Amino acid sequence: MKLFDFNKYFPDEATCRRAFKEMRDKEGVVCQHCGSHDVVWLERKQQYQCKHCRHRTTLRSGTVMHGSKLPFMYWFIAMHLLTATKKSISAAELQRQLGHKRYQPIWELLHKLRSVMGKRDDKYTLKGCIELDEGFFSTEIPQEKKDEKLKAGAGSQRKSKVLVIAESTPAEQVPKKGQKPKSVGHIKMIVIPNAKAATIDALASKNIEKDSRLTTDDHASHIHFKDMFTEHQSQVIDPKDIGKVLPWVHIAIGNAKTLFADMYHGVKPEFLQEYLNEFCYKFNRRYFGEDLFDRLVMIAASYRTNFEHRTYRKAA
Ligand SMILES: [Zn+2]
Repeated sequence: MKLFDFNKYFPDEATCRRAFKEMRDKEGVVCQHCGSHDVVWLERKQQYQCKHCRHRTTLRSGTVMHGSKLPFMYWFIAMHLLTATKKSISAAELQRQLGHKRYQPIWELLHKLRSVMGKRDDKYTLKGCIELDEGFFSTEIPQEKKDEKLKAGAGSQRKSKVLVIAESTPAEQVPKKGQKPKSVGHIKMIVIPNAKAATIDALASKNIEKDSRLTTDDHASHIHFKDMFTEHQSQVIDPKDIGKVLPWVHIAIGNAKTLFADMYHGVKPEFLQEYLNEFCYKFNRRYFGEDLFDRLVMIAASYRTNFEHRTYRKAA
């Protein structure tokens, strides 16, 4: 949605609030006490009431705005900027745009939206031809590891490991120069504590359909895939061939790294997953165009965030 249209459709707090309520009504409000879908809106109280147990639910309760006192309009502006921009928006920039005094609530608002984006994508499993690999993202050294001697390479405290999975169908014809050898569907990027087979196996079986065909390198953490999936091609990959064998996981990793380097001054490892959620969410909906905003409002109205209030220390 263009800025002009956004301002036209959502000019004030009352409009944003009404639009949010319409989306909640459309998605269906569930009583948090008894689970009934039978609720009525009390206009004077501005709350839903369960017809069975009379439990009341506020408009924000059970949504991404659960517990937030920020204006609905802040959330709508943030959702607009997150979906209208190709890249993203930093908390500092959003704070400036809103003219809000404190940084922390705005920073939390963005992370809460990223968290529900992740919850939505968690609902989907990938299928068909699949690329899978582990990537390493530069992150700040966690507080508790600051005194340790720095390790080099993949085990470095400055790197966070990420499992990257992409639906990637080989082209039917031999690709011409400049064309990708495979076309991409949905992707997933999941921060992992280690690259042990047990860790990777659990995430692969949760996120990939059994009848899929996997392509990976010959890393020891992939040894069980041949029993878990219809097909597993494991091969030694010369670094110069990575773009042919696993093109999309590496394009995704490269694009995400470039974006994070442009947007944020150092990512803390504990928040990396939220940034990846946003990256994957937008990648997976790259053809949604104008619908992207409405979909995000729908998700904001349907999911409660997992992001917990944390005292903010330094920009992340
Ligand atoms: Zn109830």
